[in-house]
Amino acid sequence: MFENLTKAPGDKILALMGEYAADSRSTKIDLGVGVYKDEQGVTPVMRSVRKAEERILSNEKTKTYLGIAGNMGYGAAVLDLVLADSIDRSRVRIAQAPGGTGSLWVLMQLINRARPGATVYVSDPTWANHNPIATNSGLKVATYPYFDPETRGVKFEQMLAALDRMGAEDVVLLHGCCHNPTGANLTDAQWDQVAESLVRTGALPFVDLAYLGFGDGIGADAYGTRKILSSVPEALIAFSGSKNFGLYRERVGAAILVARNAEQAETTNSQLLNIIRGAYSQPPDHGAEIIRTILEDASLRAEWEEELALMRNRMISLRKKLADAIRDRSNSTDFDFVADHRGMFSLLGLTNDAVEHLKATNGVYMTGDSRINVAGIPEDRVGDLADAFLGAVR
Ligand code: PMP
Repeated sequence: MFENLTKAPGDKILALMGEYAADSRSTKIDLGVGVYKDEQGVTPVMRSVRKAEERILSNEKTKTYLGIAGNMGYGAAVLDLVLADSIDRSRVRIAQAPGGTGSLWVLMQLINRARPGATVYVSDPTWANHNPIATNSGLKVATYPYFDPETRGVKFEQMLAALDRMGAEDVVLLHGCCHNPTGANLTDAQWDQVAESLVRTGALPFVDLAYLGFGDGIGADAYGTRKILSSVPEALIAFSGSKNFGLYRERVGAAILVARNAEQAETTNSQLLNIIRGAYSQPPDHGAEIIRTILEDASLRAEWEEELALMRNRMISLRKKLADAIRDRSNSTDFDFVADHRGMFSLLGLTNDAVEHLKATNGVYMTGDSRINVAGIPEDRVGDLADAFLGAVR
């Protein structure tokens, strides 16, 4: 059987992590891997999460099955967090799923049941896993213009023109906030225009919301998602609790669907549950129960929001420090975009040679497309990094 297989391509980020681990220089800096890190370079368990886990451990009475849609208390709490009052809940259904990735997976499967072989339009560039998840689900993938390598902002006019050309049979995958890999995001006014375009064309918006609260705050980061939901008849959202709750390995996310009316929501949801049943039957509970415990308890929730704000503000401050250090040294505003970007990542727009040079000469590691994780910047090495980046583009 297995002799028919050839080797699948390895994961580039895992390969980069291996290279970093093997580098013996004490001055090396890891800006590659996509997890939040604190000043000590650690991806911490949040205090609110630890407290919720302690409660769960002492209160949990059973580990019997929960059902195909998972933890319903979690589902209700996530809907409140993500949607607020943007939409009538009778048109909305939610199923807990294994991470943002699992949520994307079951929703792509759902799209393929509704419209086999449909085209999903993704931003150029986008998170490396969007394409395989879509094609493995039987869908086609195409791109819409997004990142402008000149300004390192969004090519908004071209993006909007592409969205305007779509049809009701197309799907548009949008990053709800904190775009990965670029860090360049839409303004509220631009989200308004995107929502209007979706109403005009009837294309189905599919929002990937993996970093809610990592940009400018929960409400600010949810603006685009809520705007779209209050405008269009149908939508899909893949929510992840990996980053904002620091629950990466617990695999907690949610697949949210919005239909034209309650009856279509019920029918569509039955297909979603059928997909889940035939894939992994039910999601794991632990991460969802942690999030439910935090969001339902006023004091734990306040503590979580405080911790989330601390992470967010640390990333914003590192962005500013790096942009300032580069401006001070070069007298140029060429890297000011780093301070304007939001979320964990910025795409620097360096050549592959420059990325290799930074690795070989300075021990600075980033992905081959020149994406940096700003949370990986050591506070006391901002000056060294500024020198290294300027050296690489000279
Ligand atoms: N979407 C985007 C844009 C991401 O960056 C990630 C995480 N890297 C995910 C979805 C999925 O995250 P997870 O499955 O770990 O929740």
